Amino acid sequence: MSPELIAKQVVIPTKDGKRWFGIQYQVNLYRGCSHGCIYCDSRSECYQNVNFEEIRYKSNAIELLSKELSNKPKHQIIGLGSMSDPYNPLEVSLELTKKALEMLDFLKQGVVIITKSDRVLRDSTLLKRISSHSPVVVIFTITTTHETVQKKLEPNVSTTNERFKAIQKLTSQGIKCGILMMPILPFINDTVDNVEQIVRRAKEVHADFIYPAFGMTLRDIQRDYFYQMLDKEFPGLKNVYMDYYGAKYSCQSPHAAMLKKAFVFECRKQKILYGMNDIIETIRPNQEIQLKLF
Ligand code: SF4
Repeated sequence: MSPELIAKQVVIPTKDGKRWFGIQYQVNLYRGCSHGCIYCDSRSECYQNVNFEEIRYKSNAIELLSKELSNKPKHQIIGLGSMSDPYNPLEVSLELTKKALEMLDFLKQGVVIITKSDRVLRDSTLLKRISSHSPVVVIFTITTTHETVQKKLEPNVSTTNERFKAIQKLTSQGIKCGILMMPILPFINDTVDNVEQIVRRAKEVHADFIYPAFGMTLRDIQRDYFYQMLDKEFPGLKNVYMDYYGAKYSCQSPHAAMLKKAFVFECRKQKILYGMNDIIETIRPNQEIQLKLF
């Protein structure tokens, strides 16, 4: 299968730009992802990602990005990383994400990047430049501080430690960073100790916020893959899931209430934002100022 794709459209408006980190348009430059997260929802049937781990790139993405954003108001928030990680191994040679950021800078648009890779550090100067005129945030998904568990859950990407270090480097350059603490998987990383440690380390590296989910979703192909990987990495756990959740889509941790309480307590103690409205407020204020400047 050729890794090259010709896309019809790359800029997809979100249903409600006030909900998910203020993102108003989603852009996926790649299809598929090789980071191997065993819980990844992008494997679900509805996305029709055949051979999900083989990354394909949209060769006309930058041309479309320029065309589709040219008639949009400036200083919008463009999301990169909803269905595939924008800093996958192909990005090293193709630099499609870097070119997209250069285009967003040129068009005076903002960006929210969601990634698990410290390859994003390559683009820190560019991100800093964009932040001088529009909102910029880099969000790292962090699920566990236990490195052995993390390698089983997310085998082909930066370690948790590397992600924290990347946050530290970016925040020291004045680039806003957040943490997506999800999924917290039932019977795996759903402990108070794990949640508290993530919040404390977030504080140490000056993360601006953490947004959590104390559970996961499971459906069709994604569920099959997850169960297959449970058998390999966590023997015996598949039966626990099957007994506890059956065919349910939403699989909340049995400890969700306790975890949430501990999380909120620790976030307040460490003075880290955790509510979506507050997070969006912290992402956007630049915009007000910059609108006056441009
Ligand atoms: S990095 Fe994101 S898109 Fe890639 S496998 Fe992991 S969860 Fe899926």
